Amino acid sequence: MSKLTVKDLNVSGKKVLMRVDFNVPIKDGVIGNDNRITAALPTIQYVIENKGRAILFSHLGRIASEDDKKELSLEPVAKRLSELLNQEVKFIPVTRGIELENAVNDLKDGQVLMVQNTRFEDFVDGQATKYESKNNPELGKYWASLGDDIFVNDAFGTAHRAHASNVGIASNVSQTAAGFLMEKEIKFLGEAVENPIRPFVAIIGGAKVSDKIEIVKSLLEKADKVIIGGGMAYTFDVAKGKTIGNSLFEADKLELAKELIEKAGDKLVLPVDTLAASEFNNDADTYIAEDGIKDGYMGLDIGPKSIKLFQDVISTAKTVVWNGPMGVFEMSNFSKGTLAIGEALAKATEENGATTIVGGGDSTAAVQQLGVGDKLSHISTGGGASLEYLEGKELPGIASITDK
Ligand code: AMP
Repeated sequence: MSKLTVKDLNVSGKKVLMRVDFNVPIKDGVIGNDNRITAALPTIQYVIENKGRAILFSHLGRIASEDDKKELSLEPVAKRLSELLNQEVKFIPVTRGIELENAVNDLKDGQVLMVQNTRFEDFVDGQATKYESKNNPELGKYWASLGDDIFVNDAFGTAHRAHASNVGIASNVSQTAAGFLMEKEIKFLGEAVENPIRPFVAIIGGAKVSDKIEIVKSLLEKADKVIIGGGMAYTFDVAKGKTIGNSLFEADKLELAKELIEKAGDKLVLPVDTLAASEFNNDADTYIAEDGIKDGYMGLDIGPKSIKLFQDVISTAKTVVWNGPMGVFEMSNFSKGTLAIGEALAKATEENGATTIVGGGDSTAAVQQLGVGDKLSHISTGGGASLEYLEGKELPGIASITDK
C-alpha cells in the first residue's frame, strides 16, 4: 500500500493518538451491538502490545444540545472496551483541559485512555460550535499536542469528512498511519476503483436515483457491467417507455436516465421484470409484471427473470462491488431479490475466486441475514465513505494519511 500503516510506526514508549469508529447504537447507556468496538481491537492491541500508550478518540451520534450529551457519553463504550481488552481503559469525560492533559501524561507503556465523544465539541457553552465537525484548526492542533507526533487513523466510516479528530489531528503531526481496518478498506475499495481484476461488475440499488447517480456515472466508466435494481430502477424504466404504476419515480432525473441508457448501451443492466404490489405492505396483493406495471400497483422487488439475469452477470465477474438493496428488503415478501444478490456474491467468491465487496447498511444486513458475510472478500464499514470512495472522490481522511 502507498500509505503508512500502523506497522510502519515506532510506537514503543510513545503517546499514540488514535481515531477509531466507536459510533455504536446505544440506548440508556446500553450498547446494542459492539461490532465496531471488536473491529477496532486488532489495531489497539497492536499498539499496546508494542508498548505504545493509546489515546483513543471517537465520535458517537450527533450533538446539538446539552441533552444530547447526557445520552451520548462514550463511558459505556470505554467499559465495554475494557472488558474486551481485559485491561483498564481510563475514560476521561471531557474533550479538553487539565484533567485530560494530566491523565495523558500519567499513562504508562501499554495503557489505554479514551477521550469523551469528540462531537461534544460541536455544542459548547449553549452554542452550536461544530468545532469537531467543521475541523476547527485550534481543536485539531490541541488534540495533536496531547500525543508524541504520531497518529493512527482507523475510522474509515468518517474518512469522507474533514473533521478535527481525523484531518485536524493529521495535519498537526509528522506521521499519520492507517490502522488495520482502514488499511483493509483502502486495499479492497481502492483496488476495485483503480485496478480491478476484470470482468468488473457493479450492482447499485436503493431508493433514489438522486443519491446514487454520481456513483452510477463513475462506475459506468470503470466497470464492465453496471446492474441497477431497487426503487431507482423505475425512473430508468420510464426512460425506456415502460409504465410503472405507483412505483418510485424521479421526474427530474428522467433526462439523465435516458442519456445514460443511450451512452452505456449493454453495459447497463436493468431489471426485466418486477414484483408489483397493490400497496406498500408486506401482505399486499402481488403479481410479476414483465411489460410495465398496471395502474394501482407499485414495484417493490425485482422479479425472478431479473434475479436470473443478474446472477448470470455476477457469475462472469472477477470483481464485484455491491451497494444498495434490490427492493423493499425490510419486508420479507420483498426481500428475495436482495437476498439472491447476496447469495450470488458468495457463490462468485467461492466458485470463481472473485473479489466481492459489499458496502452500505442494507446490503450488509442482507449478507449477514444470509450468514454469508464470511464468504465475501470485504464488507465495508462505511456507508457514505464507501460510496464516495467508489465514486472516485478523494476522501479527506485517507488523503491525510502520510504517503510511504
Ligand atoms: P438507499 O438508502 O438509497 O440505499 O435505499 C434503501 C431503501 O430503499 C430501503 O429502505 C428499501 O426499502 C428502499 N427501496 C428499495 N427498493 C424499493 C422500491 N422498489 N420501492 C420503494 N423503496 C425501495
